[in-house]
Amino acid sequence: MFKPNCCPYLSCSRHLKPTRDFFVRFGSYRAKCRSHSIPRFRCRTCLRTFSRQTFRADFRDHKPHLNAALFTMVSSGIGIRQCGRNLGLTLRCTELKLRKIGRHLRRLNLNLQGQLGADARLHFDEFESYEGQRNTRPLTIPVLIESETRFIVWAESAQIRPTGKMSEKRLKAIARAEDRHGIRKNQSRWVVRRVLQRAAAITRQSACVILATDEKWTYPGIASGAFGAERLMHLRTNSKLARTTWNPLFPVNSEEAIMRDLMGRLRRESWLVSKKRRFLDIALQVHMCYRNLVRKRFNRDKESPAQLLGFLPRRLRPSEVLSWRQDWLDRSAHPLSRSGMSVRDWRRSVGAA
Ligand SMILES: [Zn+2]
Repeated sequence: MFKPNCCPYLSCSRHLKPTRDFFVRFGSYRAKCRSHSIPRFRCRTCLRTFSRQTFRADFRDHKPHLNAALFTMVSSGIGIRQCGRNLGLTLRCTELKLRKIGRHLRRLNLNLQGQLGADARLHFDEFESYEGQRNTRPLTIPVLIESETRFIVWAESAQIRPTGKMSEKRLKAIARAEDRHGIRKNQSRWVVRRVLQRAAAITRQSACVILATDEKWTYPGIASGAFGAERLMHLRTNSKLARTTWNPLFPVNSEEAIMRDLMGRLRRESWLVSKKRRFLDIALQVHMCYRNLVRKRFNRDKESPAQLLGFLPRRLRPSEVLSWRQDWLDRSAHPLSRSGMSVRDWRRSVGAA
């Protein structure tokens, strides 16, 4: 039975400080897209009404029953146009649905991250892709994972300057792209710092952080800035070493290969392209959610990476990932709670990490 855990209106004092009986039942309504009736409530403080649907991630969606199928297709490497064809949606509708799902999953990924144990073992690497055009607008994508469980802590893209062989034709193309989109900056250090700071937030209780990276000269300074030099053990591997299973960076190399496979837009020789960087970031969040919460760590396992770290008691189904809205930090409802209990209360009740 659903019970609202706070008033959904941010301006109401019962949003941050709800009491046990801050609401009263206020009838119900029937929606075209659902077989059961949806209960309505009224806040005793601000007197505004809301319903169970106000707390759902598919709040105000058209065709909410297609969301889980779209999530599954996109996280299997199918392009947006093809997803639209399969689901009977227009391209624009599919794009907007996916953007809303991506924004929701970004918050979910953050809300469900707990703290790592006393010894945190992390692997970090950057790989390259592009926005719009490969030879003129390259991107760097730093990826940070927990080494044992393959939990992707964070991945985000940032622009870098085009490098490599410069033919006359390519120089002209770069000049045209700069006229149109502005001079390209090298944001690699900025984004590496951002990604490592995400890991610093979940290793606050760790006495020791073991970070494995390649030998890029910028990493030691940024890493000791993010984690603190006294508890950081930084292992560096030459990136020219053969990329076999014996390579110390194998876990992160393998995770990047999975990303290239499951995100159609990162595949080589593919027609799928992120036209803008921010839409690649949305796709990265969809992949992180699928990899961390839905998929098994390895095919032989039964558990997801988040489950192995103790963040969740079981793997989530796609419909659960897209259930409650997550825009109120740990006051949002937990995806495994049917009654709409907040992430904070749910953690307290099960003693999760
Ligand atoms: Zn209220």
